[in-house]
Amino acid sequence: MTQTTLQFYNTLSRQLMPFDSIGPLRVGLYACGPTVYDYAHVGNLRTYLFVDTLKRVLQLNGYQVNHVMNITDVGHLVSDGDSGEDKMEKGARIQHKSAWEIATFFESAFLADLERLNILKPSITCRATEHIQEQISFIQSLEEKGYTYQTSDGIYFDTEKLPDYGKLARLDKQGLLAGIRVDMAEKRHPTDFALWKFSGGQKRQMEWQSPWGIGFPGWHIECSAMAEKYLGETFDIHIGGEDHIPVHHTNEIAQCQAKNGKVQANYWMHGYFLNINNEKISKSGVSLRLESLIEHGYEPLAYRYLTLTSHYRSHLSFSWEGLAGAQKTLRRLRDKITSLPAGGNIDSQFKAEFLGYINRDLNMPQALALVWKVIESEIEPADKKSTLLYFDQIFGLDLGKVVRVTIPDEVQRLAEQRQSLKQQGRYDEADSIRDQILAYGYQVNDSADRLYTITPR
Ligand code: AMP
Ligand code: ZN
Repeated sequence: MTQTTLQFYNTLSRQLMPFDSIGPLRVGLYACGPTVYDYAHVGNLRTYLFVDTLKRVLQLNGYQVNHVMNITDVGHLVSDGDSGEDKMEKGARIQHKSAWEIATFFESAFLADLERLNILKPSITCRATEHIQEQISFIQSLEEKGYTYQTSDGIYFDTEKLPDYGKLARLDKQGLLAGIRVDMAEKRHPTDFALWKFSGGQKRQMEWQSPWGIGFPGWHIECSAMAEKYLGETFDIHIGGEDHIPVHHTNEIAQCQAKNGKVQANYWMHGYFLNINNEKISKSGVSLRLESLIEHGYEPLAYRYLTLTSHYRSHLSFSWEGLAGAQKTLRRLRDKITSLPAGGNIDSQFKAEFLGYINRDLNMPQALALVWKVIESEIEPADKKSTLLYFDQIFGLDLGKVVRVTIPDEVQRLAEQRQSLKQQGRYDEADSIRDQILAYGYQVNDSADRLYTITPR
């Protein structure tokens, strides 16, 4: 246990609050997972890196974290207002595969991305389609308590029945009612949301029997039902991206409050978006995958480094220049650490300063800046190494696992020569030098901005 008090910004109270867990040194953490109808983009991954940093900070403070993440493989409609096609069925139609096939495929691709980014595995990963009965039971409880009504296309939650509906987002219900822009269909109030949707005349690939007819669960109910199953009626932290504040998390709070008469989670934390050219990265709009960064010659951990340079509650603007800078700095940091001798001690003053930053709402930019202060400090080289490796438990950059690869001078010279030929447009000659480098047992990986790396084959 450390001396520094943990403080997190709680979206519910809009305040920085000391963290107080329900159970001693135990944390129940629920992170909303991906909707698996397409590849995750680097924006999604920024959110999961934020979750991972939070988890690492809790663990370093001595907490045992029970981390649950769902996989949304049914029920997330194209519009968050409960209209339009199910994203899974739409993805299946476009990709000429079954909804079940794309769910499995994109879930695996997502989990592989997490691994490449050194994100610690959740304690429990649970799929919505494997918890249909739990969701039906949840809706039945809401029905018994009088919070639901039926329309021709489903069972809806009546948000008027909860006086403080919308408190997370500070929703202005009157304002919403005055200028209804929401697709109301048969909903009684614009904020009402679907708990169960009927298949209707269409045959769906993913559908189940229920007391109300054949259909599928709404998006919000899956998280509430699974969170309750694995973490109980009230747990410590519920986390997701900022877009979850006005709809998804607002509705989760409502249905849990209605069913259990209690707040679902004590702390609500939200990661801000990654943008590109001032536009949010999204699966349906401008997207960018981790795989593309790799194809451009960058390591996934360079992206991890990049995300640590901004606070989770600010938007981060992605640029290739920024990523190239992160890659270069990460490499410099590794070189530095490998050149330091082992066997030192963690410097207590730097440790205290570090904990001060990370424990105050995960101030990673300041924690990262401290790395360079340690490197430039007067402390023993071996102590520098131990201190930096201690920091890396939070950064997750695998700094301790680095093996120094010495590139022979001749290979270095050839790579520079090849680069200069490429810049002159003499590509055939550049290719033949690439072959010579390969013959030495190394390969050159081109990346953006005239950068390249040399790695053993
Ligand atoms: P989804 O797969 O769309 O359900 O989203 C998975 C997670 O990524 C959610 O927590 C979203 O809030 C989050 N997210 C979506 N877009 C972005 C973005 N551009 N930047 C950061 N997080 C995002
Ligand atoms: Zn959720």
